[in-house]
Amino acid sequence: RAKNQGRNAVCFFSQELEAELMKRHGLEHLLREALEKESLIVLFQPQIEMVSGQVCGFEALARLQDSDGNWISPLDFIPLAEEIGLIDTLGQQVLQQSCAFASQLMGLGKDLKVSVNVSAQQIRNRQFIDYVVQCLESSQVRSRMLELEVTESALIDDYEQTRKTLQTLSNMGVSIAIDDFGTGYSSLSYLKSFPLDVLKIDQSFIKDMGSDEQSHGIVQTIVLLAKALGLWLVAEGVETPSQLSELRTMNCDVAQGYLYAKPLESQAAYEFAERNIAAGGKPA
Ligand code: C2E
Ligand code: MG
Ligand code: MG
Ligand code: MG
Repeated sequence: RAKNQGRNAVCFFSQELEAELMKRHGLEHLLREALEKESLIVLFQPQIEMVSGQVCGFEALARLQDSDGNWISPLDFIPLAEEIGLIDTLGQQVLQQSCAFASQLMGLGKDLKVSVNVSAQQIRNRQFIDYVVQCLESSQVRSRMLELEVTESALIDDYEQTRKTLQTLSNMGVSIAIDDFGTGYSSLSYLKSFPLDVLKIDQSFIKDMGSDEQSHGIVQTIVLLAKALGLWLVAEGVETPSQLSELRTMNCDVAQGYLYAKPLESQAAYEFAERNIAAGGKPA
């Protein structure tokens, strides 16, 4: 009996493993194809200044599409791209599309930013700075319009090299944001040594803010920390009016989330900005 069970267990395991491998194989194929054809999709999610209700920027978020037209989350394909050495190519295509979008936004005559996620591996690449410069130049976008989002763990990965790279970009006028702030394991001392402009509070804290005193306290504290350091504060994953009003009371600067808009295709994102500007901002 035990023997049988053992065999079933092995069989079950290998079926799961096989399904997992198939999925990965399919995903890798999709990813390679999208990068070859330059058909990776980049969506743009509005960021809203809380006091005025005015749009102040967009975050670029990558998507893959499978043959049935379903969208695949970056949480699935970014780690894969890193693993198989395609993250630089992917990052370049996202940056290109983001600069093209920024260039379109310039026509609206307002200072808007486009914020692009970069992974630790990209920053460690010696050609990263050159690529950013090239992208800005060829799209004729001012460096002030570009923001790069890095996670805390990316900062501590290769501390000195990363600091130098970010310092160079910052000196050029590119803005630097810490993404998912509060979820990394790093010490706070890096906040002093990196050239930072923005903290983005992780959405898990926003989600639990209404129901959980501790999350509320953490958000409040991060807002105060950002103020003390002279950083701009963005709350991610704002979904409800009550979250928004709590964040307002705390003096948080910017909100991003489904309450305002989901990530949008570039044309829809452009129209969102156009409407928002025409309405002079829409205080919620
Ligand atoms: P992130 O940078 O923290 O992006 C925020 C995520 O929250 C996005 O997920 C966004 O769609 C989602 N989101 C926005 N508003 C709301 C809301 O109100 N409620 C909820 N529940 N979620 C909301 P997404 O697009 O699936 O991206 C996941 C992660 O993948 C990103 O997290 C980022 O770390 C990474 N990523 C996305 N695009 C790229 C890229 O081009 N390069 C790199 N290296 N990473 C990327
Ligand atoms: Mg981000
Ligand atoms: Mg985030
Ligand atoms: Mg995240």
